[in-house]
Amino acid sequence: MAVLEIKNLHVSREEKEILKGVNLKTGPGEVHALMGPNGSGKSTLAYTILGHPRYQVTKGDILLDGESILKLKTNERAKKGLFLGFQYPTEVSGVGFSHFLRTSYNALSKALGGENREVFITVREFQKYLKENLNAVGLKDEFLSRYLNEGFSGGEKKRAEVLQMAVLKPKISILDEPDSGLDIDAVQSVAKSISKIADKDSTIILITHYARILKYLDKLDYVHVISDGKVLKNGDASLADELEKKGYEWIVNPQNNL
Ligand code: ADP
Ligand code: MG
Repeated sequence: MAVLEIKNLHVSREEKEILKGVNLKTGPGEVHALMGPNGSGKSTLAYTILGHPRYQVTKGDILLDGESILKLKTNERAKKGLFLGFQYPTEVSGVGFSHFLRTSYNALSKALGGENREVFITVREFQKYLKENLNAVGLKDEFLSRYLNEGFSGGEKKRAEVLQMAVLKPKISILDEPDSGLDIDAVQSVAKSISKIADKDSTIILITHYARILKYLDKLDYVHVISDGKVLKNGDASLADELEKKGYEWIVNPQNNL
């Protein structure tokens, strides 16, 4: 059964229709890339899946493990295992990164249950668990004592985002342009970190405008191209290579490419 299924999803923002019938299916352990030109509706889809009140679903459905989540609030969706890494992470002054992660981890463990999650892990146990993951995504230990996203560089914010996914182990992780504004070395290491957390229990949807980050993933199962609020093409990793060579125009405006 699909983990996350988007069915004929129509979404409006301020009376304007942005998504015009999106269909998408993801299974357990799969890595998906959602690609498309600027303004095609990628972030809109991500925020809608998470239930941001700014976006109105006018038609269609979003199913998680076969059940509609449309009526659930954002925090209820998060408890079901959805995680969104924001394109522009916000700074939260006064909230320690480590404290934030432990609280989130425990809340999610309580909500998800399951035998491979510890519930109510102590501060000391959590620090140990966190350090193992921290080094895996290439962040230094001192990072833990800092406030959430405050004064983080672009690359650090992205790594912190991937660290959150690695630590929280959500069922579905949606990363909205984790490569934006990063130099090539940082793109590579963010991609490596994403690959590390891709396992049989977690589904990853990576939203990106450029194909370059995808080349550094250990595994990429499906590529979807969205334009003007619709998924126009589905393929495997080779579709990303093709997009890198040819751009989006041949898919978006095929009549111009006869
Ligand atoms: P992407 O993430 O693919 O670049 P977005 O989902 O951010 O695209 O935006 C999709 C479309 O939503 C944009 O082309 C724009 O027309 C519309 N949009 C964005 N912001 C607003 C807004 N504040 N009000 C109405 N429409 C908006
Ligand atoms: Mg966007």
